[in-house]
Formats: sequence, C-alpha cells, structure tokens
Amino acid sequence: MKITSVEVQPISQVVNPKYAIVSAAGAQPESHYAVVAIRTDDGHTGYGEATVVPGWSGESQITATAFIRDLLTPLLIGRDPLHIRELADLLDRHLIENPFTKAAVEMALLDVAGKALGVPVNVLLGGPRRPPEIALKFSIGAFPPPEAGRVARAAKDMGLKAVKVKVALGLEGDIARLEAVREAVGKDFRVAVDANGGWRESDAQAMLPHLERLRVNCIEQPLPRGDFRGCARLRRRTLIPIMLDESVFTRQQALEAIREEACDIISIYPGKNGGLLRSIDIASMAASAGLRCTIGSNLEMDLGTAAMLHVAVAAAGLAGTVDHDIIGPLYYDQHFTRTPIRFENGCAVVPDGPGLGVDFEAAQSAYTE
Ligand SMILES: [Mg+2]
Repeated sequence: MKITSVEVQPISQVVNPKYAIVSAAGAQPESHYAVVAIRTDDGHTGYGEATVVPGWSGESQITATAFIRDLLTPLLIGRDPLHIRELADLLDRHLIENPFTKAAVEMALLDVAGKALGVPVNVLLGGPRRPPEIALKFSIGAFPPPEAGRVARAAKDMGLKAVKVKVALGLEGDIARLEAVREAVGKDFRVAVDANGGWRESDAQAMLPHLERLRVNCIEQPLPRGDFRGCARLRRRTLIPIMLDESVFTRQQALEAIREEACDIISIYPGKNGGLLRSIDIASMAASAGLRCTIGSNLEMDLGTAAMLHVAVAAAGLAGTVDHDIIGPLYYDQHFTRTPIRFENGCAVVPDGPGLGVDFEAAQSAYTE
C-alpha cells in the first residue's frame, strides 16, 4: 500500500456561548482546525485533525496548512502508511515542535492503516486495556460564581460525575467560584481545578487550605509552564494530586517531570504530544514511574476526540480517580462526522469501527452535495 495524495483543509466552529471557556490562558469563543486527508493506491482514505490555538502551541490554521502541504506531504507521497512509527519519526526530524500539525498527519496514517486492516486504531496501539466507556469531567470557565454554578448544574444534568473549574484569575474570585460550584453539585461530586499556569507559588500555597476544604480532587498546572521544581515543592505540601498539562508536551518533558517528582498525574492527548504513539509512550513512562495519566483536551471535534478515546482505552496507567477531558464535541452544535462520538452516563464511548471509527468522509460528501 502506498500513499498517493495528502490534502488539508481549514474548518472553524463557534463554541456554544453558554460554555465558551474563559481561563488564565484567555478566552476561546471559536475554534480552528486543519483537517488532513491521506489517500492510498488501494482506495482507502484516513483523516486527522489539527486543533490549533496559537497561544497554546504556537500553531495556527495557516501554519498547519502550510507545513502539511509544503513540507510534510512530499515526505509522505509513495510511502507505506503502515510504517507509522518510521513516518512519525520522519515528521519529527523535518519539523520540530508543531505537535498538533504532526498529530493530524499521524492520526490520518493510523486511520487509513486501521481501515486497510479492518481494525480500530486502539488495536494498532496494542489493544484495549479497559472497557470502552471513559469517565469525563466537564470544564467550567472562570465565570462569575452564579454562572459557574449554573454550568456545573448543567454538567450534572448531562449525566457527568465530575467537573474541573478554571481558576487563577484572582484568589477571592477563585474561592467564590469554587464555593458556588461545590454548592451546586453537592459534596460527593468530583471537582478539580485548572490554573493553566496562572498562579505564583505563593498564590497556590495560599489556596491550598481552601482547595482542601472544598474537597478538590486534583490541581492541574498550578504554576507556569516549565516550573517543575515549584510544583515539586507544592506537591510536598498537600495530599491533593498535582497534574501537569502545559508543562508536558513531549516525552523529554515527561521525563523531567518524573525526575523532579513534580506531579502525581500527567495530562496527555494526541494533539499536544505530537501524535497518538507519543501519548502512549508518555503514558507508559508515567506508569513505570508510578504516576497516572488523564486525557486532556483542546476542544477537539469528533475526529480528534476519537483519537483521544483510542489512546484512553489503550494507554497504561489511566487515572481512575480523576476524570478525563474528552469533551470537545459537547461544546459545538455542528458535527462533521456522520457517526458522532457517543456520550452516555457521564462517559464518552470509544468508537468500534475500523480506523478512528468516525465516518468523516461520508459527512464531508453530504456537506458538499
Ligand atoms: Mg489544562
């Protein structure tokens, strides 16, 4: 089997304004994507999604499209799409960083390989280690307290058993928002916080008694990207698990987090890690060090969400006590796949068809008919 063409197209969506995320990293009223299609000489097509936010990874629709079209496509034409590790290494050698761009290409390779072999992508990752229902937490923006309480109740009404609340926009406001959420969901609901690197170490320390009082079950990225030692110090002051998200994009950063004993949990997902295989690698490293992983999110469409679910079901050491952010499609009214991701009982369900298991091609042709 040989790759005969690679195409890339931009897609944008407005986030449902009821849920649009506001965090210490800024607001996200709309989302932008570059979707890759890889076609082979035996008639298969695989799709992948680059979920691009310049302030997050330094990538945009323009950079993703240009790199895929001008730089990566010539490397792929004529190659066997089943040689996925070899091709992923090739992409890394020719383009540093740009993880979401490279993940879109690798996602499309895995999709086309799975379709050609008639197996779901998670089988190509070593097969499922757990049931296909992955427990979710809904992300609540840094809204005023009554609004945060309303969204938390809406999440509970959707059947979710957990939320995470964006914090680090002022300590008093953070505490009031968390109190409103706790009040809205009751004492047994799982509530995490995500500071998106917005606290100073002294802020985080000042918040610890309140986070403990409000039964917060995880503190995500309390300190700025790269401050592994600060997180290690914070970790020694509390029993609440510390999660790193922005600080761990690559396997090298995961290794540094492990060496510095900077966290209990690493947030992984294909876009941020530069592909599904890289996410699986980081999960294996974390598990070897006695850590756990959760699946993070950049508000993917169904395509990118399917990739996250295949990782979630196959990865070593997935956290059971802290839930996962496989929630992108819940933020949009429009879906570009004919078989959207299923959400049931507070869980997202791993698609079981060949490849990524979402019928992107059929929906595409329906839109253009
Ligand atoms: Mg995060």
